[in-house]
Amino acid sequence: MTSAVVVGAGPNGLAAAAFLAKAGLHVTVLEAADEAGGGTRSFEALVPGLLHDHCAAVHPTAPASPALRALGLERHGLRWRLADIDCVHPLDDGSAGVLLRSVAETARLLGPDGDRYRALLALPVRHWDALAPDALGPLLRLPAHPLLLARFGLPATLPATVLARLFHTPQARALWAGVAAHALRPLSRPFTSAIGLGILTAGHAAGWAVAEGGSQSIARSMESVLRAHGGTVHTGVCVTDHCQLPPADVTLLDLDPGQVAALYGDRLPARVRAAYRRFRRAPAVFKLDLAVEGGVPWTNEHARRACTVHLGGPLAEVARAEQDVVAGRMPERPFVLVGQQYLADPSRSAGDIHPLYTYAHVPYGYDADATEAILRQLERFAPGVRDRIVGRRATPPAGFAAANPNFTGGDIITGARTTPQLLLGPRPALDPYTTGIPGVFLCSAATPPGPGAHGLCGAGAAAAALRHLGIPGSGRPSAPDASVPDPDTRA
Ligand SMILES: Cc1cc2nc3c(=O)[nH]c(=O)nc-3n(C[C@H](O)[C@H](O)[C@H](O)COP(=O)(O)OP(=O)(O)OC[C@H]3O[C@@H](n4cnc5c(N)ncnc54)[C@H](O)[C@@H]3O)c2cc1C
Repeated sequence: MTSAVVVGAGPNGLAAAAFLAKAGLHVTVLEAADEAGGGTRSFEALVPGLLHDHCAAVHPTAPASPALRALGLERHGLRWRLADIDCVHPLDDGSAGVLLRSVAETARLLGPDGDRYRALLALPVRHWDALAPDALGPLLRLPAHPLLLARFGLPATLPATVLARLFHTPQARALWAGVAAHALRPLSRPFTSAIGLGILTAGHAAGWAVAEGGSQSIARSMESVLRAHGGTVHTGVCVTDHCQLPPADVTLLDLDPGQVAALYGDRLPARVRAAYRRFRRAPAVFKLDLAVEGGVPWTNEHARRACTVHLGGPLAEVARAEQDVVAGRMPERPFVLVGQQYLADPSRSAGDIHPLYTYAHVPYGYDADATEAILRQLERFAPGVRDRIVGRRATPPAGFAAANPNFTGGDIITGARTTPQLLLGPRPALDPYTTGIPGVFLCSAATPPGPGAHGLCGAGAAAAALRHLGIPGSGRPSAPDASVPDPDTRA
């Protein structure tokens, strides 16, 4: 029987393993941590019964991912849940930019900027199923829908600060800045609109969903697909040398390129090894999990019903903060992302005490305490919130790196999305999943389309491995599986 070894059981490793097992391979996954899931794990802490997500929390790109839909995860227990409102970006005067599932409804709330918002997003959202395989795959290949991809791709080339000029109201501009800030790049650089537009388009197609029972449910459902096809996961196995790997026809690595260079050393072609060693990292995050009694007293009413709240004030302030963290300076007012997953999935709360997920963008390897900076941003838009906090737990950048070497320096997106790395992955190659060693493939978020719990990097690498083995049916995952959540999945 043809065999595969996958190193790392993050969402991409598990997706790759599941696709290979479905194709009939005998698959073994080796995972360093004591549980599978990587960036999609959850934990109970602070108050008994309170469920927090370790890393990935809200999933605008996962429910609409062709890879996850092709795996049919709902049949393995995954349920996507939506809050009333997808995302809110409050401003100091109490107003906010508000993002709803529907483009038309979002446009209505954006008032004078509504028509421009609709013009930017309505078409790509309407054609998401056709666009997704092209937009979320390696760039160097023939797109199936070139005109659609060009229509989506042209605005994506712009610096986020330039695309922001489309809008005139501070609310629309701030909303756009907060979404674009997910790129963790100076917003004045070319292509910094790409990630924001990708998140908005996929998010309108399927909602900014959370997984019922925590993000761990995503990993568990993928593991269930894998096991149903005979695959196994071995935890507590940290692979530091390729000699540790059992013999297999193909090996897939859910690792950052630096680890792959260390693992294979001289066995990698010199140009690949050099590219992996040069791989640039992104700034970090400092995370603060909170237990909040009675929820957050946001000044803005919409923020009280939103799954995600972006704290960073107006566009110029967000842009300055992102510029600072990339330059290695800690901003006084960092960009803070707040997750209120319990609004979509009330099972995560304990009575009237709710888990609040927050993190600030900080410089790579930041080793000071950002707790106060995060709490100040919260208080700014929700006065009195401090008095409601009954438990807290901080995870600095070093904490992420210690738990998972892929997040070295606290870089949670597995590599800076500089223009070359955004467009080509860890190295320029027709197939970015190949490593130059026949039969060895990279499947982590360092490869296209990049970070998130969408499983698409794993699916792309699995397809490359199956092509290498000459196994048919190794194209892009496309079969949509009626898994996009409907509004009736709202809590
Ligand atoms: C704090 C934080 C917040 C985030 N928020 C979101 C969010 O809200 N939405 C979203 O979509 N994404 C979010 N992300 C990003 C998302 O979690 C990642 O992009 C995603 O997990 C990447 O998946 P992966 O499979 O490529 O790698 P990982 O999730 O990093 O998994 C890699 C796995 O490999 C294991 N491993 C590493 N080295 C070895 C080794 N040498 N030997 C054996 N095993 C090894 C690790 O333990 C891990 O289990 C967040 C990440 C973090 C950390």
